[in-house]
Amino acid sequence: MTTVAAYAAPAAKAPLERTTIERRPVGEHDVLIDIKFAGICHSDIHQVREGWGQAIFPMVPGHEIAGVVSQVGSGVTKYQVGDRVGVGCMVDSCRECENCKAGHEQYCTGGNVMTYNGIGKDGQPTYGGYSEKIVVDEDFVVRIPDGIELDVAAPLLCAGITTYSPLKHWNAGPGKKVAVLGMGGLGHMAVKLAHALGAEVTVLSQSLRKKDDGLKLGADHYHATSDPATFEQLRGTFDLIVSTVSAPLDFGAYLSLLKTDGALVNVGAPEEPISLNLFSLIGGRKTLAGSSIGSIRETQEMLDFCAEHGIGAEIELIGAAEINDAYERVLDSDVRYRFVIDTATI
Ligand code: NAP
Ligand code: ZN
Ligand code: ZN
Repeated sequence: MTTVAAYAAPAAKAPLERTTIERRPVGEHDVLIDIKFAGICHSDIHQVREGWGQAIFPMVPGHEIAGVVSQVGSGVTKYQVGDRVGVGCMVDSCRECENCKAGHEQYCTGGNVMTYNGIGKDGQPTYGGYSEKIVVDEDFVVRIPDGIELDVAAPLLCAGITTYSPLKHWNAGPGKKVAVLGMGGLGHMAVKLAHALGAEVTVLSQSLRKKDDGLKLGADHYHATSDPATFEQLRGTFDLIVSTVSAPLDFGAYLSLLKTDGALVNVGAPEEPISLNLFSLIGGRKTLAGSSIGSIRETQEMLDFCAEHGIGAEIELIGAAEINDAYERVLDSDVRYRFVIDTATI
């Protein structure tokens, strides 16, 4: 076992504080990663506050991990010491179910192991990226291409893949009108990625205060959802809407913005349910769907796509002591556009 420094919430809703955790010995198929940067995802906040239900404490959040391999197990074939690598939301899966066999391990039905707030195959709780080092099976590690700096790469491991996967699956590309609902961590990546994929991109944000940024990141249009005229003006416009909003919304109003056969794909994970009048789907043969992160193979594809198109996250680099303040700003929709922890400060 190796003792490493980490930032943890000792109990639900408690502020995060410095502590130490144990990392398992490097097994045959494991790599030891010196974590350099860890992004703060809104999912970290939902879980620290037990917004999604009972959680495991102490909790070391963090599933947007970028670092460098510092040791490899005897059976490791894909990575060497010194390689620049990333780890996202999963660190293992059953590897036997239909979805795992098809390479969709994010939809593992046998139970995948989440990077933190999970139980590993050794029966021990998993601890995430707000820490100095992590031990991960090489099959759940991806390579960060040389063209992307590690700090702006970290958020790609969750915000990047969670938006890339539905954009690809629902064919965002030339000739398609795509709206991104909510311009926070996931939303700003959705704008960059949908633009790079060739779609015409519209941001639907609560206000116009981030409009200049949105247009710079690649949006063609930007509208405030607080203005009722937006819903009149954009009725029947979009082929695809990706909702990244962390709070419950009136999806019926957004479904009215789709064309016939359009899809509203939700990746946001609000803590409360929504209600929906199903007539908003029937008229116009519309689809309301969800999507969870992406597979390991797709995560690598997304990183290579980002390197090819010069895409990284827009980040605010912080020291570990600023994590609790950063959480408050995320909750206020005041993130521009991802907080990333410099793990050297832990
Ligand atoms: P974030 O940075 O806080 O962004 C969320 C954005 O939603 C905000 O910036 C804001 O955008 C908008 N928003 C927030 N509250 C709102 C409200 N009451 N009404 C309307 N809009 C509101 O969060 P994130 O890290 O991008 O994560 C977004 C959500 O996705 C979270 O629920 C997270 O848990 C979930 N998530 C899901 C997956 C998955 O696999 N499906 C993966 C990662 C994260 P504007 O200021 O532009 O309005
Ligand atoms: Zn996340
Ligand atoms: Zn499985």
